[in-house]
Amino acid sequence: MNLLPSFRTVRPETLAEAVSALSAQGAQALGGGTDLLPNLRRGLGLPTTLVDLGAIGDLTGIAVLPDGSLRIGAGTSLEAIAEDASVRGAWPAIATAAALVAGPTHRVAATLGGNLCQDTRCIFYNQSEWWRSGNDYCLKYQGDKCHVVVKSDRCYATYHGDVAPALMVLDAQVEIVGPQGTRMLPAAQLFNEDGSNRLTLGQGEVLAAVVVPPAGLWRARYVKVRIRDAIDFPLAGIAVALKRDGDRIAGLKLAITGTNSAPLLVPTEAFVGAEWNAATAQAVVQAVRKTSNVLLTTVAGVKYRRRVLLAMTRKVVDELWSDS
Ligand SMILES: Cc1cc2nc3c(=O)[nH]c(=O)nc-3n(C[C@H](O)[C@H](O)[C@H](O)COP(=O)(O)OP(=O)(O)OC[C@H]3O[C@@H](n4cnc5c(N)ncnc54)[C@H](O)[C@@H]3O)c2cc1C
Ligand code: SF4
Repeated sequence: MNLLPSFRTVRPETLAEAVSALSAQGAQALGGGTDLLPNLRRGLGLPTTLVDLGAIGDLTGIAVLPDGSLRIGAGTSLEAIAEDASVRGAWPAIATAAALVAGPTHRVAATLGGNLCQDTRCIFYNQSEWWRSGNDYCLKYQGDKCHVVVKSDRCYATYHGDVAPALMVLDAQVEIVGPQGTRMLPAAQLFNEDGSNRLTLGQGEVLAAVVVPPAGLWRARYVKVRIRDAIDFPLAGIAVALKRDGDRIAGLKLAITGTNSAPLLVPTEAFVGAEWNAATAQAVVQAVRKTSNVLLTTVAGVKYRRRVLLAMTRKVVDELWSDS
């Protein structure tokens, strides 16, 4: 059995102290640890200091702001988000996505920040040190070749977070606090489509909160497929937000996960004003197909993941259309 590497743990009580601790070389944020600690036990990373964010009161809580927006602290547990009455009532896609992460015991410990910032995954990476050394490691960590896209100079490990796509289709912003102060950016811009450089956070920056605008007339849903329904990462997942005006699409947003190295918004501007019919459905499915890039990074077959993603797309937009 692999042991955790040796590191120091600090437990700041304010965001300012956390930023200062995270600004040191080799420091890494610790949320619930449900992604980070299993990885460290496999020898994936050698932080010198883990900055436990669990004692920072400002990082937890769910509030509906005076303008009707939703603010969720990055340290809030996924269980609390899944069960919160205001999230379930006005932003049900976020509650569903949180409720579909891993298993119940993970969701008690797992935080929103850790869920969004989780590492990318690959069958050549999420393995023991012994296994990886026998395969000459890989480009993402300790090696120099990618075994999935052999001639590539970048890593294609897949992002499997469930909550990000639901936030992205609802136009959420992330609040980032760092040595230079606080900045807001659209949730999609938190991510790089690069498996070994997955986040746009700078040294010392911490994800502090997510702010979601009022849902208004948008109806949204998140669905995923996984091997074991009780506890698994999405093999593919899609969030859809739809605004219907009679027989026309007044707004459509799609975001996918489990397919690329980042959760991605699918271009959908062309569908605004269209009728929802077989031709539009086919075009929407094609847009998802073009954006997705499913590779052999999981034990499940590529063809299956592609097909199921497209089938889910059609089904969920159909359902939202009928329910709107
Ligand atoms: C068996 C199993 C099944 C799983 N299934 C799923 C699944 O179905 N869907 C899914 O989405 N995930 C799944 N996960 C992954 C993980 O459990 C969740 O993503 C969880 O939400 C991670 O949150 P955490 O707080 O535990 O993160 P941590 O493990 O604490 O951190 C994860 C990463 O985020 C960084 N981080 C944490 N908080 C912050 C912050 N505030 N600012 C900046 N960086 C931060 C850490 O440095 C680390 O790199 C699974 C894990 C396991 C072990
Ligand atoms: S996609 Fe390639 S570089 Fe990235 S983890 Fe997998 S094998 Fe390694």
